[in-house]
Amino acid sequence: MHTSYTELAHRISEDHRLTRDEALEILSADDAATFDVVHAASTLRHQHFGNTVKVNYLVNLKSGLCPEDCSYCSQRLGSAAEILKYSWIKPEEAVRQGSLGVVGGASRICMVASGKGPTDRDVDRVSRMIEGLKESNPDIEVCACLGILKDGQAQRLKQAGADAYNHNLNTSEDHYSEICSTHSFSERVATVNQAHDAGLQACSGLIVGMGESPEQLVDAVFSLVELDSESIPVNFLMPFEGTPLEGTWELTPLKCLRILSMVRFAAPDKEIRMAGGREMHLRSLQPTALRVVNSLFLGDYLTSEGQSAVDDLRMIQDSGFVVLGAEDRDLVAEHEAYLQAHQQDLSDADTGAEESTAPAQAVAPCGQVASCSKGNGASGSVPLTIRRRGVGTSVAPNA
Ligand code: SF4
Repeated sequence: MHTSYTELAHRISEDHRLTRDEALEILSADDAATFDVVHAASTLRHQHFGNTVKVNYLVNLKSGLCPEDCSYCSQRLGSAAEILKYSWIKPEEAVRQGSLGVVGGASRICMVASGKGPTDRDVDRVSRMIEGLKESNPDIEVCACLGILKDGQAQRLKQAGADAYNHNLNTSEDHYSEICSTHSFSERVATVNQAHDAGLQACSGLIVGMGESPEQLVDAVFSLVELDSESIPVNFLMPFEGTPLEGTWELTPLKCLRILSMVRFAAPDKEIRMAGGREMHLRSLQPTALRVVNSLFLGDYLTSEGQSAVDDLRMIQDSGFVVLGAEDRDLVAEHEAYLQAHQQDLSDADTGAEESTAPAQAVAPCGQVASCSKGNGASGSVPLTIRRRGVGTSVAPNA
């Protein structure tokens, strides 16, 4: 690179916009230079977010049974992944599950449902959930993620109190047809714009490690910048057995750091989240990634298990960061005390799912890997574990 990464970060802090060539150079940095890249990206992260980490918590309102064919997705049409499958959970259960995330330290609850997009009835149902969650947790942010929106639906969610709408672009326009045939990149762009037009913040991000070229990855990131996505989740492909991308392992921890750094250079003042797959792909470098990103999901993902929530909080604390909105609290101590006090209540609760196909599971403590773990040696030491706890089960969530 003709200028140093630190100098590039300095120019970006003075309003230079990352060029495509610079983005590609960051992605192609040597492993040995990757910590220089991270250091430079960290100055931008620090400039805009100090030492705070925003904690988000996922509630999977409806799991599996999707008619779409996104090749990375365990919930897709024809997926043989042995995930939990259930229809809409009850509104009160959605509120209960979201509130557990708040107790865990989340300042944003992400309410997600599988499917191409919601009916108006679905939007009404989710609106009731948002209203209920806001009533019991007035300071919490709610992000809805329901797929491709039709006219008027974003406005309805905004009226119910939603703060944001998530719809990921996932990859570049010219790679999109390789990963999905049942809807288009432009439909995704249109939904992000609809959310913005309704006054919702846009949350739109990526899945990396799906066979995209460096150029396609840069295209996808530049599309997100152009769309003015306020938060950018970066997911690392979790190649579920039983999906077309099963066995796809293209990432290394250092490559993940270069990708996150490139996103930070391209979008210095945006919330950048290390999202699904961080445990298995960043592995021991997750704390290093916190120097670049300023956001994560707490605990489990939609259909897979993350590391224990208390380990997430410990990682934040041990790395010298604080949870946004909980700067003066010892969340690790609070979390452990809460779980100890409420373990039995959490375990005894009704699942709340209208039509759950969740297999019965033995009660397991929060944060422990369930006995159904499926390892994959190619990922290193962190297995891809199908979620068998939390929403849709009778087992306490990892919150
Ligand atoms: S990503 Fe969404 S639309 Fe695509 S298969 Fe999965 S649940 Fe369906």
